[in-house]
Amino acid sequence: MSVTTLDINSIRNQFPILHQKVNGNPLIYLDNAATTQKPIRVIKALEDYYKLHNANIHRGAHTLADRSTGFFEDTRKSVQQFINAAEAAECIFTKGVTESINLVAQTWGRKYLQAGDEVLITYMEHHSNIVPWQLICEEKGASLKVFPIHANGTLNLEAYYQMLSVRTKLVACVWASNALGTINPIEEMIKAAHKVGAVFLADGAQAGSHLPIDVQQLDIDFLALSGHKLYGPTGVGVLYAKRKLLEAMPPYQGGGEMIKEVSFEKTTFNEIPFKFEAGTPNIGDVIAFKYALDFVNELVKQAIMVCEMQLLNYFLKGVIQLQEQFGEDCITLYGTAEDKVAVQSFLLKGKHPFDTGLMLDARGIAVRTGHHCTQPLMQFFGIEGTVRVSFAIYNTFEEIDSLLEVLGKLLKPRN
Ligand code: PMP
Repeated sequence: MSVTTLDINSIRNQFPILHQKVNGNPLIYLDNAATTQKPIRVIKALEDYYKLHNANIHRGAHTLADRSTGFFEDTRKSVQQFINAAEAAECIFTKGVTESINLVAQTWGRKYLQAGDEVLITYMEHHSNIVPWQLICEEKGASLKVFPIHANGTLNLEAYYQMLSVRTKLVACVWASNALGTINPIEEMIKAAHKVGAVFLADGAQAGSHLPIDVQQLDIDFLALSGHKLYGPTGVGVLYAKRKLLEAMPPYQGGGEMIKEVSFEKTTFNEIPFKFEAGTPNIGDVIAFKYALDFVNELVKQAIMVCEMQLLNYFLKGVIQLQEQFGEDCITLYGTAEDKVAVQSFLLKGKHPFDTGLMLDARGIAVRTGHHCTQPLMQFFGIEGTVRVSFAIYNTFEEIDSLLEVLGKLLKPRN
């Protein structure tokens, strides 16, 4: 049995890594929120780049340099289309979401934040959407405000609207939570932020591979994405920002590529996007990232979402069966919002999440355990961490059966 609407077997065949045994069992990879696996076309593009095209980009007067530059800029155009940006120049290449958010904090934040200003974030942020704001708020004398969530893992929007004020200069919010799966209603949140004159940054780490993205329709100011969570290579990310914001922001790092002219007295800066891309970028991985975007585009995001939700619902049905068998409290779910991506955190009664993870690994099942870089969120729930399963387009119902079977064994009372 496989999920409907897409041919999962032919998709699985595009992922060489899935066809191996781990600890004597077929690998079942359910750690996709940490990083997705890569289709063969991405791996091949990387290999081809180093075998056939490798050259530094943008200033070369030779064929390989021209070719590499063309491929690199093709990826930028693909990113532009993927998120429907008004222009490719609004898409800056970074290492990932973490660097994208740090870039905004260190450039926009350093220029615009002042004592008395507020940056508003949520209780469910990843550390990479907390710490950069702590650092810059401390430096500038601004305050970091956090608005609460409900017990089901949804945002308390009433508190959000109450806490927004003319002091709020920036709202930074995770679009889809990596620990809970909650999809946050960023469209209405952006409108409310704009009403008080604040800019809005969305952490799109988990949205990238699951949700349709249209930055113009959302009127979003900043969006951070990571390639490796989107079937692409590690070390490639994107910061999208509106042109007028990028043009007004000072550069992030100084060095080659980001300059127009340098003298010891004064340096003038290059145009966007190059102003924010100092030094030789991660050329090969950026080029290969285009193939990951092609992979997602070919499958169509809506179809991916449908399949992934079938997987999540199948898992949740299995959880109910376990609860019927072993008692309601044998498994506690964290993140039960209606609007979710295919991510589920849980704890088995009396079992440390790490032990559950180890037992699953012994059966070749890869899950993530711990605080998922959301320690304040774990504190909200009064726990140290959870076991998290996160599904991708290549996962199957049979894999979930194996997961549920091991969970059932772990829950069986010992005589
Ligand atoms: N935000 C969220 C919601 C994430 O899931 C992650 C990765 N776990 C990050 C930010 C950081 O992304 P990266 O490590 O790719 O910079």
